[in-house]
Amino acid sequence: MKNIIAYSKGACDGEVTGSKHYIEFNNKIYEIDCGAFQGGKEPEKRNKSSELIQPDSVILTHGHYDHSGLLPRLIKEGYTGKVYSTPATRDLTSIILMDSAKIQAHEKGDLAYEEKDCLEAMNHFSCFMYKKHKIINDDLTVTFYNAGHILGSAMVDLQFTKRKFFGKEKVHILYTGDLGRESNPLVNPPATDFPAPKYIFLESTYGNKTHESMDKVYNELQYIINRTIERGGKVIIPSFAVERAQEIIYFIKNLMAEGKVPKVPVYIDSPMAVNATGVFSIHSECFNDKIKDDFMAKGKNPFSVRSLKAISNYKDSLSIAKSKKPAIVISAQGMCEAGRIINHIKHGIENPDNTILLVGYMCEGTLGRKILDKEETVEIDGEKFKLKAEVHKIDAFSAHADYKEILDWLSKIDTSQLKKIYLVHGEKDAQSNLSKELFNKGFDNEIVKSDFKYKLF
Ligand SMILES: [Zn+2]
Repeated sequence: MKNIIAYSKGACDGEVTGSKHYIEFNNKIYEIDCGAFQGGKEPEKRNKSSELIQPDSVILTHGHYDHSGLLPRLIKEGYTGKVYSTPATRDLTSIILMDSAKIQAHEKGDLAYEEKDCLEAMNHFSCFMYKKHKIINDDLTVTFYNAGHILGSAMVDLQFTKRKFFGKEKVHILYTGDLGRESNPLVNPPATDFPAPKYIFLESTYGNKTHESMDKVYNELQYIINRTIERGGKVIIPSFAVERAQEIIYFIKNLMAEGKVPKVPVYIDSPMAVNATGVFSIHSECFNDKIKDDFMAKGKNPFSVRSLKAISNYKDSLSIAKSKKPAIVISAQGMCEAGRIINHIKHGIENPDNTILLVGYMCEGTLGRKILDKEETVEIDGEKFKLKAEVHKIDAFSAHADYKEILDWLSKIDTSQLKKIYLVHGEKDAQSNLSKELFNKGFDNEIVKSDFKYKLF
């Protein structure tokens, strides 16, 4: 009888990006996620040069770049197998990969991949919905369960069948991927109704933090928009194009519908965010029950705001950036490192009537972080600008469960078969705190080391 072996080559050992987890059984390698590393020059180098194992099958938990970003390179290097995901994950992945190829096309030297590799990658997808059992082969059946993180995000239940002298033994291993929050405004809370797992590979991004309640978003957003528009300014919102932009549009739509904020123009100035919003609109099967009842059942689109304009060409984008008329502008990139948001910041940052509203995590060293830290002067494209606009951060936005929410989720699932939890996808402090909390609750657990081979059974 052969053993099942698990190991990781990314998003382990204190890392949160580059998710690549492997399970070996019966001479086959199954890869869960094929993510890129993020966070500057060094990770970019690793995306081009790190060794990629050629698996027999790839299973994607969700579309985020740090979970899907190296798929085209894997295929460029000879992968011929299938990529299993939910339909919404396939569609979001396609947008994210094409965007990455476009950005890389401006770089010098070797590229991790090009647009043609992304197009080829899309041909490998085999999609199925939550709770549908996909028989991969005699050894493995894969089932997706809603992870509540972003549209289409899934936890993966791997049901392995081990043949014994007398009969068979079925064992379930669960990879959470990124685990969402109970209160996500668009998708249902993380599922709890999967078969009892023997092992869980659990993300730990916020293993030492707690988030504010999502209910606070409405009040804060209402306060910030009203305050800014009353003084004749613009609300400039740097946002990630996928999920966060759609959440903001949804919140603004509701505030406008209830008459709580004025119906000023709302510009969504990011081709990627516009495309992603289109993907959201065609995957209503992924929405939570509230959106299905409030909108879909009445034939309404949760993202259609009457005063919303999707900006496609650059000229219009620039003229909105230069305009001093009151408006709400949602633009990418989320940490203000590139993209059209740069023009909006350049033209808006020195006007005290404006507000720059931050709604996501800002890495050290990014323009977004400097704005968050309220540095008096910031440099953009070699030019110095005085930060006179008001700066706000809404902390309640997060697509990841915090440690209390993780423990709460664990308390609701069937742990009768659980032998051990393996922690991945978290910085060191987050992992050690979550590990301690898990031990306190009686869960045996271990922080996954890079490349270390774990013999499961
Ligand atoms: Zn994610």
